[in-house]
Amino acid sequence: MKQGDVERLRQKLELQRHETRQFLRRLDEQAQSLDAEATQDSVISLSKESLFERSSQRRTVLRLIEAALKRMVDGSFGICVGCGEEIQDERLQALPWTQFCLRCQGQLEEKIGASLSTRTPIQATATSRRAG
Ligand SMILES: [Zn+2]
Repeated sequence: MKQGDVERLRQKLELQRHETRQFLRRLDEQAQSLDAEATQDSVISLSKESLFERSSQRRTVLRLIEAALKRMVDGSFGICVGCGEEIQDERLQALPWTQFCLRCQGQLEEKIGASLSTRTPIQATATSRRAG
């Protein structure tokens, strides 16, 4: 990836970092105001749960953004941490905080997918195959 492109992505990442931090601050405030009216109310605990879920996703993205900005400083940005190859430009444009090339990401998701597959209902696997 060209230095000019990296610079543009850096600005994009810094903006996203800023927006993500503001988003998290708002969520914290919401959580605190829920605490303020703390009761045993199940509606409140439910909405706190969804707040927590949303904030933990954002926190993960924030960590990735910060890691990507750090890699831009030390010059390892755009290199897949899985295989050491360069990550495709189009992929970096779309997902500037990614640490993996498409191939490694695919392998990773396969692993995660395998562990999650027990949660998805098995859909009519009535395709019985008869050999010979
Ligand atoms: Zn890779």
